[in-house]
Amino acid sequence: MGQPGQFKNNLKLFFALCIILFSTSCGNEKEQPKEIITTQPVTVKIPTPDFNADSAYAFVKAQVNFGPRIPGTKAHERCADYIVAKLKSYGLQVTVQKGTVQTYDNKQFSLKNIIVEYKPDLPNRILFTSHWDTRPWADLDSINKDKPFDGANDGGSGVAVLIELARQLSISKIEKGIDLIFFDIEDYGMESTNTQYERKEDTWCLGSQYWATHLHKPGYYAQYGILLDMVGGKNPQFPMEGTSMQYAPDVVEKIWTLAGRMGYGNYFTTAVTGETTDDHLYVNTLANIKCIDIVHYEIDKHNYPFFHHTHSDNMDNIDKNTLKMVGQLLLEVIYTEK
Ligand SMILES: [Zn+2]
Repeated sequence: MGQPGQFKNNLKLFFALCIILFSTSCGNEKEQPKEIITTQPVTVKIPTPDFNADSAYAFVKAQVNFGPRIPGTKAHERCADYIVAKLKSYGLQVTVQKGTVQTYDNKQFSLKNIIVEYKPDLPNRILFTSHWDTRPWADLDSINKDKPFDGANDGGSGVAVLIELARQLSISKIEKGIDLIFFDIEDYGMESTNTQYERKEDTWCLGSQYWATHLHKPGYYAQYGILLDMVGGKNPQFPMEGTSMQYAPDVVEKIWTLAGRMGYGNYFTTAVTGETTDDHLYVNTLANIKCIDIVHYEIDKHNYPFFHHTHSDNMDNIDKNTLKMVGQLLLEVIYTEK
């Protein structure tokens, strides 16, 4: 009697256990952890593009073909139009800052500082700059001192490197805040005549002085700036320039270390020059933005190279390898900067 009853009871227990197991099993399924979807951004390193030295060389030549870009001349005007049109053709935001300045010989000129703002809404910015005018006289030559010269290197080379940089930015569309400023009327200054130490620095760099006291945007700030001057010569020497070391030694250190890592250490040497006058002086002192100068300077002669402010500053003394080295270094700065 007990058996069947027991069996019945056992059967009830079996079904009850089945229900418990089934419901437990269902419950477990419900509680299984869902797939975790991470929302952290994945950092994709964009490779540094190849700086095209042929393009840069063509940009030097195009400027030289206008003739010397002396303030107040047709060539000067045409070259400004050319630089603006070129930059706009890359779809970049271009502003022309206009102003009037007086030179040391009491002439008045209207100037054009040409400004590119790449990704203008990004707060962290790097500034690259160069001057686009040329000196009116080859006063450091032994002949025809009162005649102008081509300014292939002094004027042409820095501008060309920056135009190619602009072209590369427009292609790659990297998320970095970059500004390019092409300063006008850098090279109309008064050469020292009395003593070696006489510095008539404020007669130079009129375009950058104007910009630094009339910023294109109120409160404009960049983390640091890099000025290029005479960056297309053969066998260049780029020692650490003294004014840059005075105001922005950490930036010099960073850029020269990077140049060394890229295999350019034979050119970007650690010798330090005296303090020189160039546009970066006013970016540092008037705009309070750290700015360094990459400038061809022969440390053993304590002077700029032989072509400086002479008729030898022409296309014969432009070397694509130098344009490539400097341009590639700037691209590396942009693409590896944290
Ligand atoms: Zn010059």
